[in-house]
Amino acid sequence: MKGIVYKSTGSWYSVKAENGTFYDCRIKGKFRIGGIKSTNPVAVGDHVDFDIEKKGDETVGVIKHIDERENYIIRKSVNLSKQTHIIAANIDVAFLLITLNNPPTFTTFIDRFLVTAEAYHIKAVLLFNKIDTYNEDELLEIKFLAALYRKIGYECIGISAVTGKNIDKVKAIMKEKVTMFSGHSGVGKSTLINAIEPDLDLRTSKISEQHLQGQHTTTFAEMFDLSFGGQIIDTPGIKGFGVVEMDKEELGDYFPEFFERKENCKFNNCLHLEEPQCAVKEALENEEIAWSRYKSYLQILEGEEDHFRKDIYNE
Ligand code: GDP
Ligand code: ZN
Repeated sequence: MKGIVYKSTGSWYSVKAENGTFYDCRIKGKFRIGGIKSTNPVAVGDHVDFDIEKKGDETVGVIKHIDERENYIIRKSVNLSKQTHIIAANIDVAFLLITLNNPPTFTTFIDRFLVTAEAYHIKAVLLFNKIDTYNEDELLEIKFLAALYRKIGYECIGISAVTGKNIDKVKAIMKEKVTMFSGHSGVGKSTLINAIEPDLDLRTSKISEQHLQGQHTTTFAEMFDLSFGGQIIDTPGIKGFGVVEMDKEELGDYFPEFFERKENCKFNNCLHLEEPQCAVKEALENEEIAWSRYKSYLQILEGEEDHFRKDIYNE
């Protein structure tokens, strides 16, 4: 049978078969996918083949095959084992919720999210939430940010999870897609999900209520069906993406506005730092590239990786 993994506990997987029935499945034998050593070979969102085995009165599914993943997001354990944990796979759209204040979302955080989404090959959409609370100056700032990110190819929507403004646009993007929501604690993820699908009881909301952030418990993702078609992946305790390991030369490729200019740099391995005839620096001087983006680029390039990881996972 063919199915999709909706839930993982690390040893058991809840798989929804094509006929709509959920089966408890386990794995037999070894899986090696894409050369990654992982603590959990099967991830939420995986498309799998499984067999049904009868054990007395019980029916147990055994996963035999995992389809190649379109993409996946990982988390590296903070301890010395440096084990990789695949959080979820086959994500169509990752939304980042952004607020100017309460809490502030800095452009460096947005840019790190976008770099990681590019590296993971996941479409990212920026949602500027709490639009109902901003004064004129703040609305101008949102306009400025949205224009900045739209120019480089990212869809941006101003929304209010409370008044419902533009929630229909978010739903239209989610329809028939696998989506997930990221953002700092307090940006309104649970309020938004509740506005989109009132009957969903995601752990994300419970976690923000109970203030469980910062606890280093292993959190597993879980997938839920949406009444209007599509699925949402709940990733409690994770406000963004994991770190993607990459070469310094690769980083610029994940800034679309740098990447499109790279061929005009004198050196094909240009890091856009002090090299002569750098098309990126030139565009920066001409204000065609935003300084905030370049600043984020430098920060990531300097690679305080532990700091980065902390930034992503802890509040
Ligand atoms: P989460 O931690 O990202 O899940 O954030 P919550 O959904 O718990 O929201 C944090 C606070 O912001 C709550 O008090 C919400 O009522 C409030 N909030 C969320 N979205 C909006 C919005 O669009 N407008 C206003 N005014 N408040 C919002
Ligand atoms: Zn350059």
